[in-house]
Amino acid sequence: MNGLPETTDPRGTAARVATAAPPAARILVVEDESALGLLLSYNLEAEGFIVDRVERGDEAEIKLAETIPDLVILDWMLPGVSGLEICRRLRAREVTRTLPIIILTARGEESERVRGLSIGADDYVVKPFSVPELMARVRALLRRSRPDRVSGLLAAGDLELDRQNWRVHRGGRDIHLGPTEFRLLEHLMGKPGRVFSRAQLLDSVWGLSSEIDERTVDVHVGRLRKALSAAGEKDPIRTVRGAGYSFDETFGKAP
Ligand code: CA
Repeated sequence: MNGLPETTDPRGTAARVATAAPPAARILVVEDESALGLLLSYNLEAEGFIVDRVERGDEAEIKLAETIPDLVILDWMLPGVSGLEICRRLRAREVTRTLPIIILTARGEESERVRGLSIGADDYVVKPFSVPELMARVRALLRRSRPDRVSGLLAAGDLELDRQNWRVHRGGRDIHLGPTEFRLLEHLMGKPGRVFSRAQLLDSVWGLSSEIDERTVDVHVGRLRKALSAAGEKDPIRTVRGAGYSFDETFGKAP
């Protein structure tokens, strides 16, 4: 024995390995409007990120000298040192040359957009913005730069499933799924294109020695589809006649 608990349930072991949480990404929020900074911190923490928050440009520089985060959300106009200047300095340092940066700006500063992007910001969000939209951009940037930190995330097209926080997003919208629908989607999304029979789904999603009627699977797939396409979007799940269900591997890809 090596001290690790043994399990006789191979399905349980596989599930734990597949959903092991990656180390959380660290995000620095630099915003002098306290209410907005707090709102962003709260939402980022709810998504499982580690957040440092400062309100002044010079404080941000101190923070960045101590710890390099995985992503920075940087307000343009700040007391101390401006967001633009911080961005320029980060790009000039070797270790932060490719650090993902999202710049926040008030309307009217929009004309400065080109300047912001030319000094190397990765993205640019104009206030007032929707928080889910900003969260989607954070996830998109991290997926590119730190896939190891978001491996708890399954993504296809506009659909994202966050295993760590049990959340599903489509576009900027939160999709509320019951636990069975969530596991069903996770299972199908994990192997796009692969067809699972109803018996296989019962076994791996419900995890029972199938005394449940196979039609139960159809009921839950129906609920899942309804939730995913509530706004009339494309259905990502294929019904394979006589065989079962699969997650459409062409979903979100150009035809
Ligand atoms: Ca400001």
